[in-house]
Amino acid sequence: MPGNHEIFYSASGKRAILVADDEKINREILHAILESDYELLFAQDGLAAFDLLLEYRDTLSLVLLDLNMPRMSGQEFLRRKKADPLLQAVPVIVLTSDQEAEVESLRLGAIDFIPKPYPKPDVILARVQRTIELSEGRNLIRSTEHDPLTGLYNRDYFYSYAEQFDLHHKGTDMDAMVIDVNHFHLINERCGKAWGDGLLSRIGAQVREAVRAQGGIVCRRAADTFLVYCPHREDYEAILDAASQRLTGAGDAAASRVRLRMGVYSRVDKALEMERRFDRAKLAADTIRNNYSRSIAMYDDALHQSELYAAQLTDDFYEAIAQGQFTVYYQPKFDVRGDAPLLSSAEALVRWRHPALGLISPGKFIPLFEENGIISALNHYVWRAAAAQIRDWKERFGFVLPVSVNVSRTDMLNDELPDVISGIVNEFGVSPGDYLLEITESAYTDDSDHIIATVKELRARGFRIEMDDFGTGYSSLAMLSKLPLDVIKLDMTFVRNAFGESQDVRMLELILGIARHLGVPVVAEGVETAEQARCLKGLGCEIIQGFYFSRPLPPDQFDKLIAERAQVHSAAPSVFSKQSAAGRVF
Ligand code: C2E
Ligand code: CA
Ligand code: CA
Repeated sequence: MPGNHEIFYSASGKRAILVADDEKINREILHAILESDYELLFAQDGLAAFDLLLEYRDTLSLVLLDLNMPRMSGQEFLRRKKADPLLQAVPVIVLTSDQEAEVESLRLGAIDFIPKPYPKPDVILARVQRTIELSEGRNLIRSTEHDPLTGLYNRDYFYSYAEQFDLHHKGTDMDAMVIDVNHFHLINERCGKAWGDGLLSRIGAQVREAVRAQGGIVCRRAADTFLVYCPHREDYEAILDAASQRLTGAGDAAASRVRLRMGVYSRVDKALEMERRFDRAKLAADTIRNNYSRSIAMYDDALHQSELYAAQLTDDFYEAIAQGQFTVYYQPKFDVRGDAPLLSSAEALVRWRHPALGLISPGKFIPLFEENGIISALNHYVWRAAAAQIRDWKERFGFVLPVSVNVSRTDMLNDELPDVISGIVNEFGVSPGDYLLEITESAYTDDSDHIIATVKELRARGFRIEMDDFGTGYSSLAMLSKLPLDVIKLDMTFVRNAFGESQDVRMLELILGIARHLGVPVVAEGVETAEQARCLKGLGCEIIQGFYFSRPLPPDQFDKLIAERAQVHSAAPSVFSKQSAAGRVF
């Protein structure tokens, strides 16, 4: 500690006050008044006081500041303090005998003053206490009202300010906007969290600047999502351009590709809850999530209809489960290694027979239910139905047909999953080896350690894993060779592309080559023609699923396939059977 100040320690837990006065008698008086309630630091000149302020800025509750001091005046102290944002939270009371100086001190940021000669101790104590209370209250409000990273309002305050704005501007049309950073998690990963934080705070500042003149307010809702509430305007491009300025960093490829997208719910319906208005803007923004040609999307009537549709499906779900409106169809997979294709297994695919909307395909409700979490309940239903079906066929035809079920990403993150699925197969007396689990490739890349551990556990219990949608999940070859899996299920797009206009089968060859390298059999799905089937077989694909053989069928129609297959059962081995006489493929 420098020699020109003294510190008086008192019992800990007290608030700390810095007393800056060059006259010893003044320091002694204040010491006598304050010491039983506060921890005190003393400085004999302005410069020493400022050094202490810098050093203890996070713990000081108050500065009592004399104006006339050697080395640095109290005014200069206030000026320097005002210039440094990190020092602003500490309040200052000025000690002065000069009434003229009071006004200037207040202008320089002092909160109050205590005249010299000093008033009664009670008065000093009361002023000190009140100033500390006020400033702590204000700092608390500041820290809870604002997002520390961007200094913007936080979400709750934003919504309530927006509501207040409405109260005072009843006749004004308002727009709700959401601005998102495309692939922010990738940017964070590649450029580092600090760079990502810097990016967000620049975006925040630029968005605020862009809408401030019109009275718009801005907040950051979760990681990379900004909300803007602003009197109606048409120049959305300009806002987005302003927000996007100077975001691209030098050098780094990922940084140079930062792109924002914006969803706008224009002329909001003020009868709608504030939060729901921004849900609509967000819904619009999400429609262009992976669209590189558009960066602004408006909430419109079509979106409104699809929102209503989604809400209806969600509302109707539990009753639909209770009433058995979901049915499971089965699509056969054929082993094509031999001369004649052989039924080797089936995939369970759910359908919804909705009383008002008719037969709904899973493409309409699965993505929705995966987003809102309902999917787990639905999957559970399908898994049980599939196990019951295996047993039913076995009882009626004396023949076990393995069935695969789809497992969602959220299921994979559930630690109970192995127990849940084991429980189901046990309940229906199905052997785990006849129950296949289709897990989409992208789930593996998400939280790979956790998912890989779950997959290992499932395989240890005898279940077999098909990696679904293979080729769309961006797994690297190195990663693939470490993943536990039994079958690769080629994504349909490879078949589409290979037999589409370009007639280019090189991609197919490449993927089948990778599978061979990994030593696992391949299922090709979406096979629609004899030519496609022949070609895939020629390239070494073992199993084929697709409309060429059969569409997904309701169980009673599937019976015919089972009956035929049951007849040849004893003669032919299955690619999915571990005792396969034709040679084990996995
Ligand atoms: P997926 O797992 O990739 O299933 C294959 C989809 O391709 C099925 O559509 C099937 O009917 C369709 N398909 C099969 N062969 C052909 C063909 O030759 N040409 C064409 N164009 N399409 C073919 P579906 O049944 O509409 O299912 C769509 C998606 O919904 C499935 O894709 C799967 O991701 C999901 N899904 C279906 N049922 C369930 C379920 O019970 N649980 C979960 N989590 N997802 C399911
Ligand atoms: Ca599947
Ligand atoms: Ca698939």
